[in-house]
This record gives sequence, structure tokens and C-alpha cells, in this order.
Amino acid sequence: MMTIPREKIDENLRRVRERIAAACDRAGRSPNDVRIIAVTKSVDLESVLGVIDAGVQDLGESRVQQLVDRAADVAAALQYRRPGDQGGIPIQWHMIGALQRNKVRPILDVRPVIHSIDSLRLAEEINTRAERNGQAVPVLLEVNCSAEEQKHGVAVGAAIHLAELLGTLKHLRLIGLMTMAQQTENMEETRPVFARLRELFEEMRGERVGGEIFRHLSMGMSQDYPVAVEEGATMVRVGSALFE
Ligand SMILES: *Cc1c(COP(=O)(O)O)cnc(C)c1O
Repeated sequence: MMTIPREKIDENLRRVRERIAAACDRAGRSPNDVRIIAVTKSVDLESVLGVIDAGVQDLGESRVQQLVDRAADVAAALQYRRPGDQGGIPIQWHMIGALQRNKVRPILDVRPVIHSIDSLRLAEEINTRAERNGQAVPVLLEVNCSAEEQKHGVAVGAAIHLAELLGTLKHLRLIGLMTMAQQTENMEETRPVFARLRELFEEMRGERVGGEIFRHLSMGMSQDYPVAVEEGATMVRVGSALFE
């Protein structure tokens, strides 16, 4: 795994923040409404600590085991640097990759936000485990908004119904929707995908799905986060733009 020099991370983060601010300007939004989730899957612990030092407290991983290991390593490292301080800096982990039902149990200990709910069975498994732990788990419903074949996410046409069912699970907190766009060199091509998620979100709000806490759109990666922010993203999941 790569180690990215701290100065490089600072410079990259500054640039990401500038581009988010510019996109917010164009869209008449506040940059305070956009959270940067640093996706740490391709870098080493030192680089993760670097991005935390640079001021990012939301971290994302796409695999269960790496999320669990990472969370433990980061907590131990922060604790070591600030003895007696329980780690000091509050880190919020985000599970952004596909989640299998038999992997739910280990990740709940990390108290992550789970972005990848795409079936009722998965949601029910999380709900059952969370109930045993006395937890309320923040989740996003992953929707497949792109025309081309995507592996993950519920179809747009099935999303409202599933969201309503999630609303009945007492130990889940449906806080928003997530989507992934197709890979492309030209970020403008992803705009219809993000606009579609935004429309679906507004339709759900119109039908009173989710209530007050249902207010997040997790969309946009390194290739396309400025367009996602223009279309209403409140969480961008950025890896390579920070760590290259
Ligand atoms: C890896 C990953 C990202 C970040 O991708 P970059 O292109 O490195 O920004 C975002 N979302 C998901 C679901 C990912 O797996």
C-alpha cells in the first residue's frame, strides 16, 4: 500500500475543497453542507493518519475486513499519540462497498454509516444485529441510477417501496440515498445519474419517506465530485484525488 507524503495530502485536500466550494458557488449551495469522506482503501495507515491530521474526520472503506482492521489501527494510533484521551478526534467510518449479510456482525462494532443497503434481507439482518447491540445504525439506500449495467443498488422503480420498508425497521436510521456513476473520462456524462438520484430523493421527501433525518445524497467520487455537488451531493466519497 502506498504512503502519501503529508504535504501532498494537504495540497490535494486544499484542491478538493476549492473545487467543492466552486461547485457550491455555481449551484447556490453552502460548502458546509458537503462532507468529504476520504476513501482510504488504497493507502497505508500513515497516510490515513495524515488525512486525519489534515482535518478530515469521515473515512470510508469498501471491504468489511479492511474497515474493521483500519478502525482498530486508527483508534490505537490516535490513542497512542494522545494517551488517556480515548483517541481524542471523533472519527466516523463509512462502509461504502457491497456488504454481505454474513459480514454484518463484525462491522457494527465500528458504528459505521452504511451506504450500501440494496435489499430488505440485508437491512433486516442489520436491524436484528443492531437490536441485540442496542444500536441505531445510520444507513443509505444504494440506488442504481445509471442506464448501463451496474452490479449493485436497487432499481430506481423499486427504491421508494424499499425505503418505506426500511422505515419500519426500528434499529435502522435511513439518512439518505447513495449512487455510483459509471466510470468515465468526461464527468459531464455522470450528471444525469446524479440528477436522477436527486429527483428520486425529492420524490421520496414529497411522499414523506424517512422524515427529518432523511437528508443525504452520497454521490460523487474523484472523477466526478464537482458535478455531483452541483447536483446536490451532501457526501462525496473521494479516494485517489486525495491520495495521488
Ligand atoms: C473506491 C470507491 C470510491 C472512491 O474512488 P476514487 O475514484 O478513488 O475517488 C468511492 N465510492 C466507492 C463505493 C468506492 O468503492
